[in-house]
Amino acid sequence: LLSRLKSPSLVIDRALIAGEWVDKSDSGRTFEVTNPADGEVIAVLPDMSRAEGARAIDAAYKAQKQWASKTGKERAAALRALYDLMVANADDLAAILTMEMGKPLAEAKGEILYGASYVEWFGEEAKRVYGDTIPGHQQDKRIIVIKQPVGVVASITPWNFPNAMLARKFAPAIAAGCAMVSKPAAETPLSALSLALLAQRAGLPAGIFNVITSTDSSSIGKEFTENGKVRKLTFTGSTGVGKILMRQGSEQIMKLGLELGGNAPFIVFDDADLDAAVEGAMVSKYRNNGQTCVCANRLYIQAGVYDAFARRLVEKVAAMKVGDGFEAGVNAGPLITRAAVEKVEEHIADATEKGAKVAVGGKPHEKGGLFFEPTVLTGVTAQMKIAREETFGPVAPLFRFETEEQVIEMANDTEFGLASYFYSKDVSKIFRVAEALEYGMVGINTGLISTEVAPFGGIKQSGQGREGSKYGIEDYIEIKYLCLNV
Ligand code: ADP
Repeated sequence: LLSRLKSPSLVIDRALIAGEWVDKSDSGRTFEVTNPADGEVIAVLPDMSRAEGARAIDAAYKAQKQWASKTGKERAAALRALYDLMVANADDLAAILTMEMGKPLAEAKGEILYGASYVEWFGEEAKRVYGDTIPGHQQDKRIIVIKQPVGVVASITPWNFPNAMLARKFAPAIAAGCAMVSKPAAETPLSALSLALLAQRAGLPAGIFNVITSTDSSSIGKEFTENGKVRKLTFTGSTGVGKILMRQGSEQIMKLGLELGGNAPFIVFDDADLDAAVEGAMVSKYRNNGQTCVCANRLYIQAGVYDAFARRLVEKVAAMKVGDGFEAGVNAGPLITRAAVEKVEEHIADATEKGAKVAVGGKPHEKGGLFFEPTVLTGVTAQMKIAREETFGPVAPLFRFETEEQVIEMANDTEFGLASYFYSKDVSKIFRVAEALEYGMVGINTGLISTEVAPFGGIKQSGQGREGSKYGIEDYIEIKYLCLNV
């Protein structure tokens, strides 16, 4: 790894607590970070537990008030400096990301710039946390609303976007005047640590951003939810773990930001621009090898275009290049773990047993390891597992539908409500369908919806809160009302 980097110092095998790089855990235990493309060990990190989590929380607690007392402009300057460093080091950050997570290098670079865009955006927003004045309810009363940072924020993030998922939380928290303790996924902690190093170089004071490295996520999660100094927990990951954290946080009525699982429908109506719909399906389904919470998980194709859509999609999918993310031209890397490969296999086996057909792919790739063939299934129905559960892999299941009413019902028939997509050229239908879909986000004639300027988030069991946009900073702010008798 080091030989690929211009700045090898960005690869860090220590945790960050109170501005100090910590190379040993209290227990002396360590864990390995491996490259999913070949299984090689790329770093060995201290495996921390609750006590270290508590220490990091103390550090954040001590540092936070001072940070909050700075002007928005001062906090903005630190975030701007960090943004510039992320962009200047984007190639190295991307290489670290590909090495620990497996995605193709071009996608990794895209993620770094995407993560950086949140740092830039929320730096700008730091200056615009406006309060309010409200006409008094009595002649001698004046009402003023001020906004203050929530305080110490704990963050737990997944492996699929090791940089961006953290940047989306870190940036608004720091901009608002909070301090953060973060636990990245044990599969991909290096991206979080390099971000922390750059934040330090950008002038962020000690204790404002702490990173705990650990495989014992349930103990760390307990500390994060039970420690009274933590005022908010922000989590991106599975709905199952989100429920555990919500339950744990309920003891102290903890504020929660939850970005949980999705089961995105991708609907193609007969009147769609079919080429655009196929393009959209490719990016929505196969980006990050199908391992995103907004990936199209159920493709509903209207009967009139079903065969034509399937044919064109299969052609594109068959042309995808699977391999090590560092290889030129590769657009599908390995899956993250053996368990991820098994889940994909299980979904395909269940679907084919119940009558679905494999149109392309369908099995582990001949390269072996964690590589899997990009797959399209036709003849998929609501009775199959793939209709209900997030596959998190490179499998596009094609469902057939007849009417608009029918597809809305099918699309909404899930406990999830994160992203949804549809293709149509009929403007009345576009508004009807967009309003009827029970999702936090709707992509219309596009398969790519993520941007720092828009509110990302879900409804139902896909979570609560929004990341990005003018709404995003609200999640890290408390409203205080001052009633003044004059
Ligand atoms: P994924 O399937 O994406 O790995 P998870 O929800 O299992 O989703 O993991 C997301 C993050 O949550 C990771 O950082 C993981 O270590 C952490 N995590 C897993 N289980 C728990 C738990 N019981 N308490 C707190 N964090 C957890």
